[in-house]
Amino acid sequence: MTMVLPGGTIGVLGGGQLGRMMALAARRMGYRIVVLDPSARCPTAQVADGVVVGSLDDREAAVHLAKQVDVITLDTEHVPAEILDELERHAPVRPGASVLRTIQDRQTQKQFLDRLGIPQAAWAPVGSDIELAGALARFGGRGIVKHRRAGYDGKGQMRVEPTDQLATVTSWLRGTPAVIEEVVPFAREISAILARGVSGEVRMYPIAENVHRRHILHTTRAPATLSDVAWRRVHDIASSIAEALGTIGVMAVEMFELDSGELLVNEIAPRPHNSGHWTIDACVTSQFEQLVRAMTGLPLGSTERLADAHMENLLGDEIERWPEILADPRAKLHLYGKSEARPGRKMGHVTRLFPRPHQS
Ligand code: AMP
Repeated sequence: MTMVLPGGTIGVLGGGQLGRMMALAARRMGYRIVVLDPSARCPTAQVADGVVVGSLDDREAAVHLAKQVDVITLDTEHVPAEILDELERHAPVRPGASVLRTIQDRQTQKQFLDRLGIPQAAWAPVGSDIELAGALARFGGRGIVKHRRAGYDGKGQMRVEPTDQLATVTSWLRGTPAVIEEVVPFAREISAILARGVSGEVRMYPIAENVHRRHILHTTRAPATLSDVAWRRVHDIASSIAEALGTIGVMAVEMFELDSGELLVNEIAPRPHNSGHWTIDACVTSQFEQLVRAMTGLPLGSTERLADAHMENLLGDEIERWPEILADPRAKLHLYGKSEARPGRKMGHVTRLFPRPHQS
């Protein structure tokens, strides 16, 4: 494959903060950026060379973008795979339609992980009341019901307790296809972030430890303290998923670690991930620069950690804390340029750095 050299144009589908931080890295490396988003003032458009205004399922708008760019990537996995099939006729899409087909439907993702023999929480499809009742009976009346498509940050999820009525769940679902998972009594949550290049080379970042509040990532600490055995296991799980998907770009694998040390995969994201934002300030190559390198066919950069890091999301009106954050000399503040601070909305993040002692 030919490389897309600096000076070339990257198209990004979706203009949120992930696209914005990728665009900032890409522009530093001399690339141009064109973004597709319903809003001409979205976070990515503010730092892009061009904007195509349209929704992510607007085929015509997406093709209009594809004709202007040399390679295409995604800010979100919720772009219809049929549209990606069409875009692939105009420019390489990385990650491609086949990766998205496997990942964007939770049921397909879980079946894929089962086929690979990768451990995950016990789960069942929920296509009918009978399936739901059967699964709840198996899981002791307790579970987390998740829409198959388009859920993130706990959206499209409902936790069910033994005291809940089945009717409450079915009326919440309103016929939307879903899956149900057993509630995992995890000791902690960790994430592996890796890049896979055009040649199939894989580079993984130090594993991070995450704390969620109300299903939204709150803080990430890197590196997670892991035994060598656990580190190897996380590494093997994440890289075998990337190989099997044949993805090109950055991928995150969120996992639950149990008290026993057992690891269960929670979710795969075929893109830079919130739990990798710390790499911007603390690693030789950030996850966003790494995505640019992977999709353009440039050599991957070093994932070496220069400092320990603690990343905290700024949700909704927490963004108003910025003056206090800037007073901390260890803090690196990142704001996403969103005008409206709705509750729970990711408005920015702060990474605090704890440089490693110099080793001579
Ligand atoms: P998700 O959107 O599926 O990644 O879920 C967001 C967060 O909800 C996870 O990071 C966990 O903190 C929690 N969660 C999701 N699924 C489960 C589960 N099966 N058991 C326990 N906690 C879960």
